[in-house]
Amino acid sequence: MFCFQCQETAKNTGCTVKGVCGKPEETANLQDLLIFVLKGISVYGEKLKELGTADRTNDDFITQGLFATITNANWDDARFTGMIQEGLQRRDHLKTKFLSAYKEKNGSDYDRALPEAATWVTANSSVFAEKAKSVGILATENEDVRSLRELLTIGLKGIAAYADHAAILGFQRDEINDFMMEALASTTKELTVDEMGDLVMKAGETAVNTMALLDQAHTTAYGNPEITEVNIGVGNNPGILITGHDLKDMEELLKQTEGTGVDVYTHGEMLPANCYPAFKKYDHFVGNYGGSWWHQNKEFESFNGPILLTTNCLVPLKKDNTYLERLFTTGVVGYEGAVNIADRSAGGTKDFSTLIEKAKTCSSPTEIETGTIVGGFAHHQVLALADKVVDAVKSGAIKRFVVMAGCDGRQKSRNYYTEVAENLPKDTVILTAGCAKYRYNKLALGDIGGIPRVLDAGQCNDSYSLAVIALKLKEVFGLEDINDLPVSYDIAWYEQKAVAVLLALLFLGVKGIRLGPTLPAFLSPNVAKVLVEKFDIKPIGTVEEDIAAMMVGK
Ligand code: SF4
Ligand code: SF4
Repeated sequence: MFCFQCQETAKNTGCTVKGVCGKPEETANLQDLLIFVLKGISVYGEKLKELGTADRTNDDFITQGLFATITNANWDDARFTGMIQEGLQRRDHLKTKFLSAYKEKNGSDYDRALPEAATWVTANSSVFAEKAKSVGILATENEDVRSLRELLTIGLKGIAAYADHAAILGFQRDEINDFMMEALASTTKELTVDEMGDLVMKAGETAVNTMALLDQAHTTAYGNPEITEVNIGVGNNPGILITGHDLKDMEELLKQTEGTGVDVYTHGEMLPANCYPAFKKYDHFVGNYGGSWWHQNKEFESFNGPILLTTNCLVPLKKDNTYLERLFTTGVVGYEGAVNIADRSAGGTKDFSTLIEKAKTCSSPTEIETGTIVGGFAHHQVLALADKVVDAVKSGAIKRFVVMAGCDGRQKSRNYYTEVAENLPKDTVILTAGCAKYRYNKLALGDIGGIPRVLDAGQCNDSYSLAVIALKLKEVFGLEDINDLPVSYDIAWYEQKAVAVLLALLFLGVKGIRLGPTLPAFLSPNVAKVLVEKFDIKPIGTVEEDIAAMMVGK
């Protein structure tokens, strides 16, 4: 195996034996083979579009296939084997369709070379493991070409995750799906460095559009998030803990648990669900339990009730765990031994009755903390406070905004983000989204004239809100360049969705981003050099040096 798609990768080079995340070699290889098959489908999908006969029947499959390979999403080899088999059938169906459409249009058979991803055939899944060894990341020998292809593919995985959430709520755009196919197919071609760089920037543009679409889907379905004090204590009823990012699952779980005597709590990235009007109305929606994803081995134990994983963030269970029998997965998430809740049929709902019945047999959650945390500062809420914020900037009460969005993770070096939050001058405001917030959202950092010093926009996809806020401030202050705002970016990354967010920021022209705790291993020295020269991306330094530099706009 060779995997370097996340920040935890071994020695910041690549996992080669077993993932630091716990991903076994077999699973990693099957994921590589699935990506290879998705590339094959995309080769024909792109060609059909060029012929003017775009085929939309594989959009969801490609999106979900990419999403399933994200860090900490799916550990179930049987699911990957099934997806590869289905993918090969889909590809061959598309091939037949393309060859026939080509002949009809040109009057002759298609006779140009096709990449192996488009032609490799087998009827036997027992050869998957062997084949996977030759189609992974290292199959591209040139390290700069490999770096650019992987930067694109990894960003694409993040885009796919957000596109899937939007699609579940009925929001899809052909341009986004077309780009996914164009980008996957591009990795089978010999392109110039400039062409590959252009595709990476187009991924940034597509990430912006996808996050905008998801924002539209969320706010249309559930209203605009509003300032909310989220309870972090527990009640006396048994509860269900829901984590991940899928708000449709959240909606259906709340509806189905109403009146059952079972409470609902969020964990990790589902915390912002507490701030949506459509969810706040439920009395049995108690609040948030615990912290970010990597605390789950401990916190899922003490929760005592069933846990529903709606997207990635699943950490392998310890051998002595007690919660596998109350662990439920759904959507693209999979884990051997956990019960998978089947997808909803068209127009239907998922059936969470097994979780609810299980919860009734469980104790209420063990209290691990008490109090509240404040959330709900997505773009609509912040823009409602725009006058107050602008006045505070003009009067000098707010000197600087520091965007500390992104991810949390296990590494001790991430204490940096807690220390930055603690040591930033009191006239700074932290803008955040994603699970990085758990590094400082329970600190008493106070407020500036009633504006909390930590404004939490929501999940990592809600980083889009931070861009909307920045663009609005640029307009209000009459600035030409987004980089002239009193805003610094000190971003933490962990997995592929954060890469999509990073590409989105680069596309929007944001420069001078600090990225930590380490720069991505998939950036070759030459590609990293280009990013540094073009966008002034830099690794984090010491807390003191970085705060001093940010306060003078560097
Ligand atoms: S997802 Fe991260 S930790 Fe897991 S195998 Fe890949 S690089 Fe390693
Ligand atoms: S914030 Fe980062 S680690 Fe957390 S879910 Fe989003 S991308 Fe993953």
